[in-house]
Amino acid sequence: MNNTLRAAALSALLLSTAATSGPADQVAWDITADLTTEIGSRPAGSAQEAKARQWATARLAALGFKNIRIEPFTVTGFVRGAETAMLTAPYPHKLHITALGYSAPTPAGGLSAELVYFPTLDALKAAPQGSLTGKIAFIDHAMTRTQDGSAYGPFGQARRQGPGIAASKGAAGVVIRSIGTDMHRNPHTGATSWPEGTAAIPAGAVSLPDAELIARVARSGKPMAINLVLEGKAQPNMPSGNVIAELPGSDPALPPILIACHLDSWDLATGAFDDAAGCGIITAAALRANEGGQLRRTIRVLWAGSEEIGVFGGAAYAKAHAGEPHGAAMESDFGADRIWRVQFNLAEANKPLRDRIAAALAPLGVAAGGDKASGGADVGAIIAAQKLGVIDLEQDGTRYFDFHHTPDDTLDKIDPAQLQQNVMVWAIVLRILGMETGAISGS
Ligand code: ZN
Ligand code: ZN
Repeated sequence: MNNTLRAAALSALLLSTAATSGPADQVAWDITADLTTEIGSRPAGSAQEAKARQWATARLAALGFKNIRIEPFTVTGFVRGAETAMLTAPYPHKLHITALGYSAPTPAGGLSAELVYFPTLDALKAAPQGSLTGKIAFIDHAMTRTQDGSAYGPFGQARRQGPGIAASKGAAGVVIRSIGTDMHRNPHTGATSWPEGTAAIPAGAVSLPDAELIARVARSGKPMAINLVLEGKAQPNMPSGNVIAELPGSDPALPPILIACHLDSWDLATGAFDDAAGCGIITAAALRANEGGQLRRTIRVLWAGSEEIGVFGGAAYAKAHAGEPHGAAMESDFGADRIWRVQFNLAEANKPLRDRIAAALAPLGVAAGGDKASGGADVGAIIAAQKLGVIDLEQDGTRYFDFHHTPDDTLDKIDPAQLQQNVMVWAIVLRILGMETGAISGS
């Protein structure tokens, strides 16, 4: 049997065992359900995140993983406080707001100021220096819905960079339209950052319906005013850490395959899509890949800490494991809807491996998309440092940004059938990677 046929036969075998519901089938669901139920929200650096690390080590041990450890580090976290917003002129409206991570706290009684409307991030960038002194900037910058999530990069800049740009122009505060695609009155949180030398200011995101309201009022030309109460603040020296575990391969000379998710979540919900499901998917898939007999390569799972506030777990992992060779790296951090496309970043010498994986996934309706794999946040640093081979199993992100970083990111959003499709696709890829004896590297 040639390699392509072997891969196709393997995929058929894995699919048929899925149909009979083997013991691994519950694993992804159980991890997602139990982590979100027994721990709940897991903000970076919090006591909840610490509890989640203990929970994770116990669960990974119960599932048969070896070499389980916690690798601690400290972070500057963000501790949420009271948060309200009121449009006070020209028409009074209570707005649904949440602070962005690393927002500065408002003074006692809140911050009241003129609200200046910017339809896009570029419009804010074009505002003259000093023109926002004492005012609060509003950045609209409506995000579009895409299957591959590609809108998050450019539109997410309104959250990542917008507040810093407003602050550098003298703004006293900033409000953005939530980075999301729903039309519910749930604001979407997420971290922002401040340029070197620019002091943090209060920064929040309003729900999309509230942003539409502000845009309508702005079009009327009447001056707007707002009162913001955002009492959350950054807190240094909070304990965080990565959880690492392995399914040892039969040949210790072969570098391990690194697969990642992140254990922390935002505080507004239980973080089912982002990213309990990712931890469920990679962990269940590793077990299933080993069901066909012990793999030659070790599979190392990384449940990273403190991703949401700046990918601190990924940086800590790359630093701690800089001296160790790795075979390839992958991550699941885009919800739990079905995998529809695979992207690669593999060396020319790995073309046969690439073709085997593409052939094995085709019967599952997963199209080979090209060579643009980036690997995901938590494995980004180690991939860059070691030029690792990367395979992205791309999930359907059509509805991902309806729930992302909102109070709505809860277990009921997870479709068990699509979750299981993720596990099957991942298991096939891990089986092929885990049996590969040749060198694997990036292009
Ligand atoms: Zn995530
Ligand atoms: Zn996230």
